[in-house]
Amino acid sequence: MQVKLTTLSENTAGRVRLLAEWGLSILVEVDNYKVLLDTGLDMSAAYNAVVMGVDLHSVDRIVLSHGHRDHTGGFQRVMSVMRKRIEVIAHPDIWAAKYSRTFSRREQYAGPPFSREALEGWGVSFKFSKEPVWITDNIITTGEIPMQTEYEKIDPDLFVKEKGELLPDPLRDDLALIVKSDKGLIVVLGCGHRGMINTLHHAQKITGLEQIHMVIGGTHLIHASREQIDLTIAELRRLGVEKIGVSHCTGLKAAAILSQEFGDSFFFNNAGSVITI
Ligand SMILES: [Zn+2]
Ligand SMILES: [Zn+2]
Repeated sequence: MQVKLTTLSENTAGRVRLLAEWGLSILVEVDNYKVLLDTGLDMSAAYNAVVMGVDLHSVDRIVLSHGHRDHTGGFQRVMSVMRKRIEVIAHPDIWAAKYSRTFSRREQYAGPPFSREALEGWGVSFKFSKEPVWITDNIITTGEIPMQTEYEKIDPDLFVKEKGELLPDPLRDDLALIVKSDKGLIVVLGCGHRGMINTLHHAQKITGLEQIHMVIGGTHLIHASREQIDLTIAELRRLGVEKIGVSHCTGLKAAAILSQEFGDSFFFNNAGSVITI
């Protein structure tokens, strides 16, 4: 079995000529079956795919990790390069009215910049599921991730608007992709809003497999306390995770600490990274 992970969009560019853009998009290939996890914020995923010679036309499914714009906003540009009808797997709550409080402390719409109808008009058919979806025997979505650890909490600056009122967003739509590889599980995170460790535990439960080879993607440790980072590190060690490739909303501080702790097992996963397993 061959697994290939190509990061099309991330906050930083890891190679010359690629665009950096706050957000994430990772192409997951398992023996020629291709799943695109997220589409980035705007233009970078489609642009970088062209620069890198990645053929988006051959993508078989798109999975949206959650509704936030930095993971869904590149949809139209990706579709314009993909040029085909495609099924998109997501949790129904991607359509909740999502808001965030930005650095100006003002609320700002943070959901997809397109309506469901617009996407369907471009050739998308949706498969909504709160449960895990087995896309193939070896590629599975987590579905809704139970919040179980004490130390992983939803970011308090994220909201849904209901009847004009901002309420805490439980981010029930947050999901990850799991690949069952020969070396163990590979867990590809979008933003990790429900917690990286919660996601890894859930991946083990769904698949019935203990061994985690790699975790890659956004871990949302950007606002985490030192205590949370230390507890996360302890659990990553206990789980025996062999490779840790953080991206996006991990933040520099948490990434630097993880790099110190995990040495050669750590890598910073940015736009242009290509990993084969
Ligand atoms: Zn998010
Ligand atoms: Zn994000």
